[in-house]
Amino acid sequence: MNDSSARRIDGRALAQQVRNEVAQAVLKLKEQEITPGLTVIIVGDDPASHIYVRNKAIACEQAGMRSEVLRLPADISQEQLLEHIEGLNQNPAVNGILVQLPLPKHLDEHAVIATISPAKDVDGFHVLNAGHLLVGTPRFKPCTPYGIMRMLEHYNTPIWGAEAVVVGASNIVGKPIALLLLAAGATITICNSKTKDLAAHTRRADILVSAVGRPKIIRGDMIKPGATVIDVGINRLDDGTLVGDVDFEAAQKVAGAITPVPGGVGPMTIAMLLVNTLEATQNQLGF
Ligand code: NAP
Repeated sequence: MNDSSARRIDGRALAQQVRNEVAQAVLKLKEQEITPGLTVIIVGDDPASHIYVRNKAIACEQAGMRSEVLRLPADISQEQLLEHIEGLNQNPAVNGILVQLPLPKHLDEHAVIATISPAKDVDGFHVLNAGHLLVGTPRFKPCTPYGIMRMLEHYNTPIWGAEAVVVGASNIVGKPIALLLLAAGATITICNSKTKDLAAHTRRADILVSAVGRPKIIRGDMIKPGATVIDVGINRLDDGTLVGDVDFEAAQKVAGAITPVPGGVGPMTIAMLLVNTLEATQNQLGF
């Protein structure tokens, strides 16, 4: 362990920069009377989901985009929900569609996402977009992994030939960030809840990404000195504090660079949603 403190990766500042870039591009489109539009569908009353959706809508409006939130009741049928999505697929004023997850249990998440037009799938969760990522011809990249890659690029983190260890294997974070790191030349390891000796893997990581959702699952002694640590986790403690997966105090004494929670990956996720919505608009118009 060294005594120096890790460089803090400022997701908030970088996200603002990305958002400004998007706003500039939107201004140009507006000169041609084009306003990119995102529609977010939210089903039910989960308070955390409502906050996320509100933040996405505000970010869109601040970037000069049109944003619409479709609030649907928790007991909506699968058929009705799919009809809403099909209507949005046909609507030329809607360039991006996002269904806020998780959905109530009676709804089939895979079928819902599969109904979104891949050309409007700004979350990048449709199997077609996931497949493109897998074969190395990415179209829409899922926003959180896309944001992580943007942070690594911005901070000139060497990826080619690096050992990258991803803890967590979800379709929305763990698997796609592993694929993006692989495509950028890293040697990747993906850990999950069945991994026998987590620390043995994490200690090899030049780039360590944790996307589990468990406070302090990554301790300081699990980090290779000088590593870049990306903390995707969002956990609310009993006292209301928001923390990541990484024991930040301990980790910053070992790591070379680290993302804080809050103020790291979270703001980047929203910024990349705007990037994807802009890209969707440009693609749909043949730019
Ligand atoms: P998820 O779907 O619940 O996946 C969690 C993953 O962690 C699973 O693959 C699971 O393994 C693995 N895991 C659980 N316990 C483990 C252990 N002891 N050791 C190693 N792996 C373990 O979660 P998610 O949607 O990817 O989200 C993960 C976290 O990131 C959550 O805190 C979420 O709130 C946060 N998040 C943040 C952002 C952001 O913008 N900052 C965006 C998305 C998610 P199995 O596959 O074996 O079950």
